[in-house]
Amino acid sequence: MWRSLVTVSKTGVRLSPIVNNTRCMSSGLLLNEPKYAFLKELGIEEDNNGVYDGTWKGSGEVVTSLCPANGRPIARVRTGTVQDYEACIKASQEAWQVWADVPAPHRGEIVRQIGEELRNYLLPLGKLVSLEMGKIVPEGVGEVQEYVDICDYAVGLSRMYAGKVIPSERPGHALIENWNPLGVIGIITAFNFPVAVYGWNSAIAMACGNTMIWKGAPTTPLTSVAITKCVAQVLEKNSLPGAISSLCQGGTDIGEKIAADPRVKLVSFTGSTAVGKKVAMTVQDRFGKHLLELGGNNALIVNKDADIDMVVRSAVFACVGTAGQRCTTLRRLILHDDIYDEVLERLKKSYASIMTRLGDPLDDGTLYGPLHSQQSVKNYQATIKDAVAEGGKIEYGGNVIQGNYVEPTIVTGLAHDAAVVHRETFAPIVYILRCSSLDEGIAINNEVEQGLSSSIFTKDLGNVFQWLGPKGSDCGIVNVNIPTSGAEIGGAFGGEKATGGGRESGSDAWKQYMRRSTCTINYTKELPLAQGIKFE
Ligand code: NAD
Repeated sequence: MWRSLVTVSKTGVRLSPIVNNTRCMSSGLLLNEPKYAFLKELGIEEDNNGVYDGTWKGSGEVVTSLCPANGRPIARVRTGTVQDYEACIKASQEAWQVWADVPAPHRGEIVRQIGEELRNYLLPLGKLVSLEMGKIVPEGVGEVQEYVDICDYAVGLSRMYAGKVIPSERPGHALIENWNPLGVIGIITAFNFPVAVYGWNSAIAMACGNTMIWKGAPTTPLTSVAITKCVAQVLEKNSLPGAISSLCQGGTDIGEKIAADPRVKLVSFTGSTAVGKKVAMTVQDRFGKHLLELGGNNALIVNKDADIDMVVRSAVFACVGTAGQRCTTLRRLILHDDIYDEVLERLKKSYASIMTRLGDPLDDGTLYGPLHSQQSVKNYQATIKDAVAEGGKIEYGGNVIQGNYVEPTIVTGLAHDAAVVHRETFAPIVYILRCSSLDEGIAINNEVEQGLSSSIFTKDLGNVFQWLGPKGSDCGIVNVNIPTSGAEIGGAFGGEKATGGGRESGSDAWKQYMRRSTCTINYTKELPLAQGIKFE
């Protein structure tokens, strides 16, 4: 465990102390300290069960959740075994027998109550996300708010999603498209959005009449427990089976079980491209359905006519925010030759000023927090080394400060297709690339394997429509004059290519949680099977 941050960084900037030294001397759980009293409000105890299928249980490994800001233990969670998973799936299947019969608008009313429950605990839940994941409190609260917002959306949806009656070409026939829920949905989520991703999936899946098994990231188990407690409270209060929304915290073994299990009708997976590919192959092998939200390698193109003030503020927000651990973090900044020097210089100044706001993500005024884990720090260091080896120049940062804190880093001088530039490193490292035309910028944007988020800054309407059109950005999120990560608010989400092609929330996302049957109904006594032919 580390104690407190050095007060002067290698870039010469004075840093705020991260944690109080006296507290760090204690090896006790953070749960028992006054600063973290909000954990008890959420029903978090020293030891928590990490499995819920109507009752709380867990007979697997005990995991201690660590605080990324100071490396200290927060509280413990007993995770699930494969046997616990089996109990969850059976309970979820039984719960579906009840839930599928509840009329859709009544299901919407339950989702509305879940949204209310989350509103009641908005701040403590947001603080828990901040404590356990490492993002600053406003972002933690924002994430919970996204779940609330999608609940509101799902309530409306529960009275709106509808099949169609299509004109039949045959007399006395009706042609109907009918939508039904799928059954049990498996939801596997990543560490960096431990609430919102579950919310986007579950609110819509529930309104559509599915039941769920959730496996959150192994390093954010307390958030999974706290969220499931809120949902369970609503279900139990309404005398509904808790297994409508079950939880089986665990590691790869539980994730693999979900992917391979034919009883799980849809696997919604959010995480890295490498793991997502494995999950997709396993699900495909059993002809199951999957919804994939995988990695990104997001770019922002700055045209020569762009508003540079807006560009710099946007780039800093998108590169440095959440310490570079948003799936939509800006990783490649493509600058037109004419404005290259100006943007780079101003960016470096902004980075230096952000460093004065480095601190404990739970404290007011902190803008820049830690990486989530020591593994993330190792990935950061390896990438800096590779970038330099491939000819990159570190314009800012490049160093580990202490513990999980690293300097946000700007790298120039690399070829747009250098191996390190084409790789998603989940850390605050941005590569600055050059272009001399919009065509060139778009080609660079599109040449990576992922297709998550992208943005252009320009005042030219022609450029905007080229960017949005068939030969423009090939990503799922295609922004104009806002950063690559701005679109997360509201959660209309999804990416192309190696990002997986999924669409979580947003206009027609509900269709992924349902199956459409096409029904031809003959209401006559005639049987016109095929034109001109009679089967006697
Ligand atoms: P990860 O792929 O390491 O883990 C994601 C989840 O998969 C975890 O719950 C993990 O336990 C589980 N898992 C691991 N191996 C598995 C297996 N073999 N079978 C089934 N499940 C398995 O990702 P991470 O490090 O938690 O998150 C960061 C990644 O997630 C980044 O690549 C980021 O871009 C991506 N991400 C994407 C989105 C999006 O919406 N596109 C959102 C958030 C994060």
